[in-house]
Amino acid sequence: MAEQIQGIRGMGDVLPGITPVWQSVEGVLQQTMQAYAYQEIRIPIVERTELFERSIGEVTDIVEKEMYSFADRNGESITLRPEATAGIVRAGISHGLLHNQKQKLWCAGPMFRYEKPQRGRYRQFHQFDVEALGYEGPDIDAELIMMSARIWSELKLDSVELQLNSLGTPQSREKYRDALTGYFSSHEDALDEDSRQRLHRNPMRILDSKNPEMEPVIQQAPKINEYLDSASADHFKVLQQLLGEAGIQFTVNSRLVRGLDYYTRTVFEWVTDRLGSQGAVCSGGRYDGLVEHLGGKSTPAIGWAIGMERLVELFELSGHADVGNERHVYIVAVGDEAARTAFRIAETLRSEYTDLCVEMNSGGGSFKSQFKRADRSGAALALILGEEEVKSDLIGLKPLREEGDQQQIALADLNTAIDEFLQSSTNPS
Ligand code: ATP
Ligand code: MG
Repeated sequence: MAEQIQGIRGMGDVLPGITPVWQSVEGVLQQTMQAYAYQEIRIPIVERTELFERSIGEVTDIVEKEMYSFADRNGESITLRPEATAGIVRAGISHGLLHNQKQKLWCAGPMFRYEKPQRGRYRQFHQFDVEALGYEGPDIDAELIMMSARIWSELKLDSVELQLNSLGTPQSREKYRDALTGYFSSHEDALDEDSRQRLHRNPMRILDSKNPEMEPVIQQAPKINEYLDSASADHFKVLQQLLGEAGIQFTVNSRLVRGLDYYTRTVFEWVTDRLGSQGAVCSGGRYDGLVEHLGGKSTPAIGWAIGMERLVELFELSGHADVGNERHVYIVAVGDEAARTAFRIAETLRSEYTDLCVEMNSGGGSFKSQFKRADRSGAALALILGEEEVKSDLIGLKPLREEGDQQQIALADLNTAIDEFLQSSTNPS
């Protein structure tokens, strides 16, 4: 036998046993986008490396350590997208979508980061991303957060909590930066290698450190809320009022700085304690300077991204993820003549019923072996055809998930029987 070829570390397959759970989460996400009038945008998986360097910031985990960058055949440096915002902004600018107009957008797909693979942290993972471009807020900040809260409630998740902070403007952040640099310089002994390197280049990144040994020194650091400019403080106050009126609970976490350089004012994270140490399910924030920084006209904007692997796992753990399909029938057909008739019936049913899964037994087999497959398929009802049925224009029916005898009916009555079955299984008495 030839040697097996392994997949790439940290890049998982989503197997058929779990794709129905993904699909039901994706269904809820798309419905929610529809309900808030957000439109889908699709962007390439690769972009020029420069796009991410300039937008995410050179002194960040992503740009320093996590990007999949390589030279294409022409020698140009390109990068597998580590996140979607930069690409969406690039597309918005180059297609004039931000010219005298605003955009409410969503985007979904795989992202790539060269991280240490572990539960909830992969090298290829998927994000569901929302961006509102051209809106100053804070009403839109509240809308985005309410939208995510609606997703949790549609999925019946009650274990996520909202953490909120404001990073102010780049100007107000200057003063905070100085204060932080002063503080961390006087505690340089307590800093790890990474943080020491960031001390003078980007001290706020130290607050985002994932090293538990850094925690005590980070705890005592100056807090950003004492340095907010008054317009940002007002913005933050109104956002908190709007969330309060919408009944959304939150905690203000002044250590929350987020891993990307482009954030201004509002930043937030939905976190859970059910997923081990990778507890952030959805993160986002305002990035009022990014569009201009990437060569567009100054445009305020805000967005968030859900980590799909984490959300799907949380949904599974919640016990509400059971996605058994009642509208699934399995056709058992024994003998050549019966198989031909079954094909015809299956096609007719697929034309007549939208949203009905009609599974044909493929590859023949005895009644016994076909029934075994029918049971395993998860179908709710078996339709049975043998030589005898075909001769007399009959068809057999047998419920697969609950007790019930096989009954034989005239083929002409099949639709009525299926209607009744679907009716009774959607309204169990
Ligand atoms: P973390 O602090 O966990 O590294 P981050 O700040 O890098 O997260 P973002 O860039 O804001 O995360 O991405 C948004 C969301 O995408 C996160 O909240 C998380 O749910 C998910 N996510 C980020 N990186 C990964 C990864 N490597 N594997 C799986 N999900 C991820
Ligand atoms: Mg990260």
